[in-house]
Amino acid sequence: MTVSRILAVKGRAVITVQPEQTIQDVAHILSSKGIGAAVVSSGAGDVLGIISERDIVHAVAEKGSAALAETVQHHMTERVITAQEKTTLESLMQTMTSGRFRHVPVVEGGCLCGLVSIGDVVKLRLEEFEAEQRALKEYIATA
Ligand code: AMP
Repeated sequence: MTVSRILAVKGRAVITVQPEQTIQDVAHILSSKGIGAAVVSSGAGDVLGIISERDIVHAVAEKGSAALAETVQHHMTERVITAQEKTTLESLMQTMTSGRFRHVPVVEGGCLCGLVSIGDVVKLRLEEFEAEQRALKEYIATA
């Protein structure tokens, strides 16, 4: 099972923000879209960083409401770990676990083409597990 299977189901649209936008803007975007992270991009498909709800929590814990007026580039993570379409689910889970993050942008040929969250991975694993169980029950019933 690979990342391309997840993207085929959930789509390839990625919510991005620009480095000059404020933390308040990002909080509003994450809340209205019901997502946990946005990729920071100039808008040309490049990946300059990633900013997640956790970064916003850290910023507010450190600076209070003043953090909301600060820019994304000040609080984003610049060194982004990305995946490719051919990346396996196992490898993706390992990356998320060892890196302690829940979002991985998918980049092909230098261009952003999707984002996988831990929720997407859990959903697919659950479906796989249920399918395995069904197959096992059918096998037992007909054996
Ligand atoms: P998350 O668990 O995704 O909310 O992110 C936790 C922390 O890891 C935040 O500081 C994020 O900016 C950072 N982060 C999230 N995704 C990635 C990624 N793919 N590569 C590097 N850092 C990330």
